[in-house]
Amino acid sequence: MNPATPGRHGFSTRAIHDGQSADPLTGAVNVPIYASSTYAQEEIGRHKGYEYSRVSNPTRTALELNLASLEGGSSAHVFASGMAAISALVTMLRSGDHVLCGSNVYGGTPRLFNEIVSRYGIDFSYVDTTNAENVRRALRPNTRLVHIETPTNPLMQISDIRAVAEICREHRNAGDGILDLSVDSTFMSPYFQRPLEQGADIVMHSTTKFLNGHSDGLGGVLVGSTPRHRETFAFVQKCAGGILSPFECFLVLRGVKTLAVRMKQHEANGAAVAEFLAKHPKVRSVFYPGLPSHPQHELARRQMSGFGAVVTFDTGSLEEANRVLRRLRVCTVGESLGGVETLVSHPASMTHAALGAEERARIGIGDGMLRISTGIEDAGDLLADLEQALD
Ligand SMILES: *Cc1c(COP(=O)(O)O)cnc(C)c1O
Repeated sequence: MNPATPGRHGFSTRAIHDGQSADPLTGAVNVPIYASSTYAQEEIGRHKGYEYSRVSNPTRTALELNLASLEGGSSAHVFASGMAAISALVTMLRSGDHVLCGSNVYGGTPRLFNEIVSRYGIDFSYVDTTNAENVRRALRPNTRLVHIETPTNPLMQISDIRAVAEICREHRNAGDGILDLSVDSTFMSPYFQRPLEQGADIVMHSTTKFLNGHSDGLGGVLVGSTPRHRETFAFVQKCAGGILSPFECFLVLRGVKTLAVRMKQHEANGAAVAEFLAKHPKVRSVFYPGLPSHPQHELARRQMSGFGAVVTFDTGSLEEANRVLRRLRVCTVGESLGGVETLVSHPASMTHAALGAEERARIGIGDGMLRISTGIEDAGDLLADLEQALD
């Protein structure tokens, strides 16, 4: 139960049990959805640890202990969405601070930083973090946060977490203040990648994706590695209030119990789809870190214990991509990823539309590209669906 000592039990055992014990009143094996905004107090200042659900709620506590354990963090705090978690992350900063962000991160992240947070006197700059030396060159004396994402969407580029963490550590030791490295690890889930073990300070997930896993709820989490993170993120939950509701916490708790088995099946299907596409004559290129042809295959092997479920491929043109999408029968066309059902999206018109054609071309996102988040259906059915759609 102690989130600070992961490794006592295996990953699946912790996913199923940590933060949760049978209900002392009824014996119910699942933590109830505590649908209560407030809590009865015995007398002034005397209560059972809960006062008001913006501050804390028992269903949320169970989930937060569980996720802290899975990432090997000292604490976890859950928010209403992945973007709410990133908003909470930058609430740690103050006017005059600088944030260095990966140039290839989830589109909503720079939108939040540039359109909203920059109004408060916080500076943002962006570098390609697949080369860690770019981070060293771009750090400033007032850099307080380095935020990277690995692997990236949709090209599955990998940043070396250990190398970036080491550069941040040197900079922190040479400077005078706080410098946190946060890693958006959404695409891998804690089953395949645990950034805190590699020197990151904070891990962020959109729990909307693999952690919840069933495309039926939004959420986000920040897992911190020190008591400072615990205090800061708890204070932000209390002050800003963008917390995850008890019902959504229950959904993530339930989803996480099957995370290990789901991720194994997700990955087996991802690998099968990537290999099928790599051999298909109509496919120009395939982006999947598990393929030996991926330029960072070796780094991916070192840093992750699996390659995940997301596969991007290039059909060559917008017309061809649309033709394939219209013919899919088993795969669902839509945004998002990480659900049990296979989802196919068109990055140029969906997740990366706001970038504009020029910027998309610059970072290598073509109009003919499709991104598949392989679900946990039978692989044969997915391959047959893709085959008939491509032919
Ligand atoms: C979806 C996603 C987010 C945003 O999360 P929401 O839950 O949609 O707010 C952030 N980062 C990555 C990598 C994502 O895939």
